[in-house]
Order: sequence, then structure tokens, then C-alpha cells
Amino acid sequence: MVKKLKKVDAVIVGSGWVGGIAAAELTKAGYNVVILERGKNKKHEDFIGTKDELRYSRRYELMQELNKDTITSRNSMDKEAIPVRNNMNARLGNNTGGAGVHWNGMSFRWMPYDFEIYSKTVERYGKDKIPKGCTMQDWGITYDEIEPYFDQYEKTAAISGEENPLGASRSDKYPNPPMKDTPNIRLFTKAAKALGYHPYRIPSANASQTYTNPDGETINGCVYCAFCEEYGCDFGAKADPIGTVLKTARKTGKMELRNNAFVNRVSHDGKKANGLIYTDTTTGEDFEQPADIVVLAGFVFTNIKLLLHSKIGQPYDPKTGQGIIGKNFTGHFNNLSTYIGARGFFEDKKFNNFMGAGGMGSSVGDFSGDNEDHTNLNYLHGYEVHYSQLGSRPIANNSVPYDTPGWGKEFKKNSIKYYNRNLFITAQTGFLPNKNTYLDLDPTYKDALGNPLLRVTVEYTKQDIERAKAGVARCEEIMKEMGADKMNVDIVRDDTVFDHKFYTDHFFGGAIMGATPENSAVNTYSQMWNMENLFVVGGSSFPHTGNYNPTVTIGAFAYRAAEGMIKFLKEGGNLAVKPLEENA
Ligand SMILES: Cc1cc2nc3c(=O)[nH]c(=O)nc-3n(C[C@H](O)[C@H](O)[C@H](O)COP(=O)(O)OP(=O)(O)OC[C@H]3O[C@@H](n4cnc5c(N)ncnc54)[C@H](O)[C@@H]3O)c2cc1C
Ligand code: SF4
Repeated sequence: MVKKLKKVDAVIVGSGWVGGIAAAELTKAGYNVVILERGKNKKHEDFIGTKDELRYSRRYELMQELNKDTITSRNSMDKEAIPVRNNMNARLGNNTGGAGVHWNGMSFRWMPYDFEIYSKTVERYGKDKIPKGCTMQDWGITYDEIEPYFDQYEKTAAISGEENPLGASRSDKYPNPPMKDTPNIRLFTKAAKALGYHPYRIPSANASQTYTNPDGETINGCVYCAFCEEYGCDFGAKADPIGTVLKTARKTGKMELRNNAFVNRVSHDGKKANGLIYTDTTTGEDFEQPADIVVLAGFVFTNIKLLLHSKIGQPYDPKTGQGIIGKNFTGHFNNLSTYIGARGFFEDKKFNNFMGAGGMGSSVGDFSGDNEDHTNLNYLHGYEVHYSQLGSRPIANNSVPYDTPGWGKEFKKNSIKYYNRNLFITAQTGFLPNKNTYLDLDPTYKDALGNPLLRVTVEYTKQDIERAKAGVARCEEIMKEMGADKMNVDIVRDDTVFDHKFYTDHFFGGAIMGATPENSAVNTYSQMWNMENLFVVGGSSFPHTGNYNPTVTIGAFAYRAAEGMIKFLKEGGNLAVKPLEENA
């Protein structure tokens, strides 16, 4: 039996950056909010003294429990999808703060080209340049319109950075200066400049100095401990939802965060969402939490699973191109759009590789988005090239040149020799949507509570492969200029297929935004067109993947959505009918 609880103003699935931002803004405006979070309660104190590589980077303690809920994956429409059960292949967020706790903190903005990709592509190259089957579309919003929300997120998350010489205009500088410079970073920067490129320091959510954000939350200065990615920060120096937006919401006394609350469905009458139905996984009891507005902030896979399972919106059908829920799934896929590049080995140089931070490094934006002229290139969109000094931890790091045997005396000798004599440059590429890459419900597999799993189908196109090859070639060029004596260069083959790895957490689409209900599920406030009190927020609303890490852009759209929620709670109606200022 489902027990019905007392109605609140807003109920939110998920306590990551998106759920946290919505909760902070709504509670500051005086509304009562309940967050339902499937994972355990986590506080910063839980991370003290836990720089334990085996526990967090091998046993993935902070990640989604894939034996209870996961996705199924296939790399073409004619194959059977198989559940992803190993965290080596999916590092999705699970507890209070979501993946925003174990993220790196690289904090780029996406580009003006991204938001108007269709119009700008047609304007510069003509319609024929868009490949057949590519379902790219404008987002219904421009960079200038979303810019104030970028600024808001950057100030909340203590972003430390310097201006990108090729970047779009900013209303203000970063709230903190960039992180420390190191010999490794200087070597990359010097080489990139010598080649005529425009390197700049990666903006980071690892704070370069102690800083208090506009909500009054203090983020400490980073100590470059190198245990950033996959770990919570025990120094309180990596901006995360626990120490920022959730703390802000909690201070108002108007937020209740319920852990171990696994959301199964949205309850609704076809026109209006009534609340969320969830199971308390400690007791097995089922509850309905009614609310005036319902916010899906459970990351792309949960958001789309809930919409499809709750029968909200028309599911996308790749055969006819009809329907919208599940359409335009994209991502930074492991073997194609990230973690590809060139590793250089140096005989006469040593580096302090044991120190670093998730967002520390230098980036080149010359080939990002449409910065390069694509007239004579066989792909659209671009790639970003960076050197990042994450820090080399003991278990994971024993890179050796390709000509070293994979085991034995020689391997041991070289892994010790090269531990502090190798650097990696990587390319992160855009990925354009295509009609055969989408999300739907799996016909076979179910989660631990009996709900169907979400099925992911990813087909790479020739364009994606060519873009990746170009990115790797650029990494090789810069590494050569840096003076590496030997190089391991990743090979992108013409027949590369999706490898079922969801390692990055950079995934998008399925409930995409747009200017009209004909081509989108939500408006630019992440409000469902056909169910106005339902907000579907996060990467699920992005119609394609830019070539930068996504969280600043996700945060910006979450702030915009929260502004829309407050307006909706006051006045109701569709927020996209008129700009908010005109409604005021
Ligand atoms: C290892 C790693 C490194 C990263 N580094 C970077 C980086 O350097 N820069 C960058 O920009 N991005 C980075 N990211 C991506 C970044 O973490 C995400 O973009 C961001 O955390 C997304 O926030 P979110 O709130 O949308 O989702 P999440 O953080 O995933 O939050 C969703 C929450 O919803 C909960 N939830 C899901 N389903 C249910 C359900 N059914 N019931 C109840 N609760 C549910 C989850 O437990 C989770 O807490 C990284 C990600 C990973 C994994
Ligand atoms: S590198 Fe800095 S931000 Fe990252 S965990 Fe260590 S102290 Fe925290």
C-alpha cells in the first residue's frame, strides 16, 4: 500500500548540483521543499582521512549501486542490450550531493555556438553540411540570455580561473584567480603557444583560495592532495552540493532531505503532476509525496526512466523520427570523445606527479565548437585539448611506453622509472545527436524494485570518428613540441564502436529543450510543455554535447529553471510564453 504524505510546495528527485540548486533557490524564496535521495546521507566529515585508493577508486564506494539500478547498453539498434553492472563502466552519483561530490571540478562554460548550433551551422556552411541522420537543433536560447546564470553558478561554486582568450563575453571575471602554476603546466602552455595556439588555465571548482560565496558558504583553499576525482574533499576545498547549495537550503529550515528514498514514478492525471511515488529502501514501505511542483533532478538516466515509466510525453521512435522522450541522447563517450590523446615519456625531465587537483591544468580552445573553419573538414563541431595535473595515485599509475612488455621485470623497471617522467594530453570532443542514438525502456531487465531499466542505444557516426582523430592528432602535435622522447598515441579506428562505458557522467538528452513543443520536451526553463508543474532539469534537457565538461552549463540551466519554478508557484502558466521580465 502506498502511504500518502502531507503536501509540500516542491518535491525533488536527487540531491546533486541540480536538486541542490533548486532546493536552495526555492527555500530562500520561502517555499517548503522535500528532496528524495536514493543514496545514503553524507557529510564532509565522512571524508576525513579517507584517501583510500582501494576503497574509492577500485571498489567505488561513492558510486551508484549497479546491482540495484542500472542501465542496459547496446551499440546498434539490432542488438540486445546488456545491463551495466561494473562501476569501472559507470561512476554515477549515488548519495547526498550526487556525482558533484566525487567530480573533478573542471568548470568550463559551453559556447555561443552550442546554443544556436543549427542556425549558426546553416549560416556559415549551408544546410547541406549537416550530415544525414544528424538531429541537431537550436536550444531556443542564446548565450547572452544564459550568461547571467553562468555567472551565478560560478560565484556559488567558487570557480577559480582566468579568461579564455577565445572565449565568449563575460559579465564579470571569475570569483577567484586560477590555481597554482606548475612546471608541467608551463611546459604545455609554452608548447601550445609556440604552435600559435591560445592556452589558458582550466577554470576549476577546486578553490585557489579560501572564499565565501554569495549565500555565505565558505569553500577552503585547495591543498593539491591529488585525491579529487572519485573522492569527497576532506579539506572542504572542492565546491560540492553538500558544502554549498544543500547547506544553504538547510539553513532556511525549509528543506527536508530524505535519504534511502528511491523514486519509482511520477504520479499525475495526464495534465498535472501530483507528486512522486517512492520506496523507503530501509523498510520497503511505499510513499507518495504530493507537491505543487515536481522536479526531476535525478540525472539523465533517472529523469528519462521516470518520464517513460510514468507515461509522460510521447516516447521517441527512431524508425519514424516521431516522439520526443528519449531523443538526442549524446555524451562524452570513453573511446571517442574523452580520455583519448597522447602520453609522452621524458628521459631527462622529472615532474611532481604526486601532487595535483581535479581542475588544475591548461586548455587550448582554438579547435572548440566552431572556432575552426569546418568548410574543408569532414566533421562539424570541435574538440578541446588540455593537460590536466590530476595527480598520479599509487595503484592507478604505472604508465609505460608501448614498447615495454605488459608484465615482468622490464615492466616493473619502466613503471618505476616513468612514474614521474610521463604526462598525458587529452582531447574532449563534441558529439552530435543522430537519429539512432537514443533512450527507451528495456523490454527485459528490471531494477531491484521491479521497474523496467532504461536502455541506451549509441551508434557512432563517421563524423564522430573523424573529429576524434583530429583531436588526437592535435594532442600528438603539442606533446611532440613539449619534447617527449617517446609517445603512446591513442588510435581511433574507422570501425570504432561504443564500448558500453559510462565513465564520465557527461551524458545528455532525452527530454531536450527548444523553442516550441513540436521539437522539444521542455522549454528553456526546463518546464514540461505538456505538464506545466513538472520540471525536468539537468543534462537531460541538452540537445547535444559540447566539447567541454558540462557542470557549469548544467548549473546555469538549473538556476534558470529554479527562477522559473518560483515564478510558476506564484503565477502558474507556461513560462516560455513571454520572457520573465515582461511577465513581471
Ligand atoms: C568521476 C567524475 C568526474 C567528473 N568531473 C567533472 C568535471 O571535472 N567537470 C564537470 O563539469 N563535470 C564533471 N563530472 C560530471 C558532474 O559530476 C555532473 O555533471 C554533475 O554532478 C551532474 O549533476 P546532477 O545533479 O545533474 O546529477 P547527479 O550529481 O548525478 O545527482 C543526481 C542525484 O539523484 C539521485 N537519484 C538518481 N535516481 C534516483 C531515484 N530513482 N530516486 C532517488 N534519487 C535518485 C542520485 O543518487 C544522485 O544523488 C564528473 C563526473 C564524474 C562521475
Ligand atoms: S585536490 Fe584540492 S579540492 Fe581536490 S580533494 Fe584535494 S584538497 Fe580537495
